[in-house]
Amino acid sequence: MKKVFITGASRGIGKAIAENLLSQDYVVIGTATTEDGANQLSKKGIIGYQLDLGSLENIESTCKEIYNDHSDIEILINNAGFTRDNLVLRMSEDEWQDVLNVHLNGVFRITKRALKPMLKKKWGRIINISSTSAVLGNKGQANYAAAKAGIEAFSRTLAREVGSRGITVNTVAPGFINTDMTDSSSGVDQEELIKEIPLGRFGKPSEIAHLISYLCSEESSYITGQTIHINGGLYM
Ligand code: NAP
Repeated sequence: MKKVFITGASRGIGKAIAENLLSQDYVVIGTATTEDGANQLSKKGIIGYQLDLGSLENIESTCKEIYNDHSDIEILINNAGFTRDNLVLRMSEDEWQDVLNVHLNGVFRITKRALKPMLKKKWGRIINISSTSAVLGNKGQANYAAAKAGIEAFSRTLAREVGSRGITVNTVAPGFINTDMTDSSSGVDQEELIKEIPLGRFGKPSEIAHLISYLCSEESSYITGQTIHINGGLYM
């Protein structure tokens, strides 16, 4: 069965993607930011590794370990992420750099390391997670929206570079999805946001996972360079 590598598989959307693919007999390699999180993944049948996308050193050592253990990973899902919101006027240099570093540099660094086995096999799937923030903007998220827009442009460019080698590269852009990132304790006013969503609710992580599952499959082989929006009509 095909091997899939998912960053940020311990919670939220990444967890739902990992569980869904596991149930379809994919071999799933997933990451968490802590050793404990990685061990928890392994207990559930996901092969867990510790990864902090904020550290180039950690990315290098973890990727070395992952690709030594699994030289035949054909599917990469760049999912991990976090937010450090603030209005531009108040945004610190660290808030800006940290979000750009984890999201944009992180996607570049992981993807670069993941390409070799796909090129060898002349088959691959790269799926990056961006956000409706990239197209709509979102007050307080200039760092996050800029990083996600960068991921979309990166994906389109890579799709052109590796298409002839049987590798597709797509981006999935979720709207508001019920996870720790958007729960009310994180300062998100769900009631206010729901007013803007035609389907009148936040999405479920499993709804993202089903779309990702299709993009991993053989059947999606003619889709590349796309940003696929899944947001209950928030952006159309
Ligand atoms: P979440 O529930 O907060 O989970 C985040 C995941 O990313 C966790 O597995 C976490 O690991 C990992 N992670 C966080 N910081 C990391 C770092 N520095 N290095 C490596 N891994 C890190 O978030 P989510 O809502 O599922 O979000 C998943 C992706 O979807 C993100 O890229 C996010 O931007 C995007 N997205 C989410 C929404 C939404 O409404 N939820 C909307 C649009 C896009 P630990 O468990 O170890 O902390």
